[in-house]
Amino acid sequence: MIAAWIDRGAVRVRDDLPRPGLEPGEAVVRVLMAGICGTDLELMRGYRGFTGIPGHEFVGRVEEGPPDWVGARVVAEINVTCSSHPAESNCVNCANGRTTHCSHREVIGIRQRNGAFAGWLRVPVANLHRVPERLPDEVAVFTEPVAAACRVLEQIEDEIGSSRVSRALVVGAGRLGQLVARVLAPRLPGLEVAGRSERSLARAHDAGLTARPVAVVEEAAYDLVVDCTGAPTGFAAARRAVRPRGTLILKSTHNNGLALDISSIVVDEIRLLGSRCGPVEDALAMLERRDIEVDDLIDDRLPLTAAAEAFRRAAEPGAAKVLLVP
Ligand SMILES: [Zn+2]
Ligand SMILES: [Zn+2]
Repeated sequence: MIAAWIDRGAVRVRDDLPRPGLEPGEAVVRVLMAGICGTDLELMRGYRGFTGIPGHEFVGRVEEGPPDWVGARVVAEINVTCSSHPAESNCVNCANGRTTHCSHREVIGIRQRNGAFAGWLRVPVANLHRVPERLPDEVAVFTEPVAAACRVLEQIEDEIGSSRVSRALVVGAGRLGQLVARVLAPRLPGLEVAGRSERSLARAHDAGLTARPVAVVEEAAYDLVVDCTGAPTGFAAARRAVRPRGTLILKSTHNNGLALDISSIVVDEIRLLGSRCGPVEDALAMLERRDIEVDDLIDDRLPLTAAAEAFRRAAEPGAAKVLLVP
């Protein structure tokens, strides 16, 4: 089968890969559509030393597996954990409900497991979620990143409830920043988005968000700041924006690490919070209710054979989502 392949800092198309076969507890899913995100670009640049087929944002159709799943249109929880294979005993994280932090986890398209920039991929049945009928592929393909945005909401639920957050800021108006801002905005009415490219600021503005260039963001003014930039300069801007005793949520992974004045975090008593994968069902429900719109975030749709070009376009400043269609 054809697939995009990441190896030594580059992505290329291969046509010599075997189609994945069925394994116990798993399903073979034909990919209908997949989206490129910042993590894929970081993997290409060498993050985690990944070699293999990337792609963790996808919608597909089950071709092989349990009869009640065959033919179903699906998205998936990307962390393959102890609970993905219930016959296995649980690690300490899974046993305590921290399944996305499973000590033995593989992550679809990110860690020790091939992903969705391919004709087919293998997914544990326990990780599958049915896509509601009226959700088009172009919307369902956003489930994984919307779930990641919903994770922020989970993490700050107490703060929102206690109205300790009156000024909130999302730094980064790219594909993830837009989703995080759209998910948070209904709960945080004063939310602002800061970005660098005019294209992405215009996109945020058109979506009804308060958008401003990152250069004019007020310093030490925000109760809650979410860094979605994936860039050291973006992180620095997010750090400057948060007030003493404020919360700084980190959504981006950084291939080259990050310089951080840790003393300033201590002195200002900043609460630092890492944030990764979120609730898939919440994301599907949100997309189905059209609580957030994603149509305007699709920049391009390219065949899998043009994966290298698709990665190039996804890396352009202000780019939002580039979709790959096998
Ligand atoms: Zn992603
Ligand atoms: Zn586990």
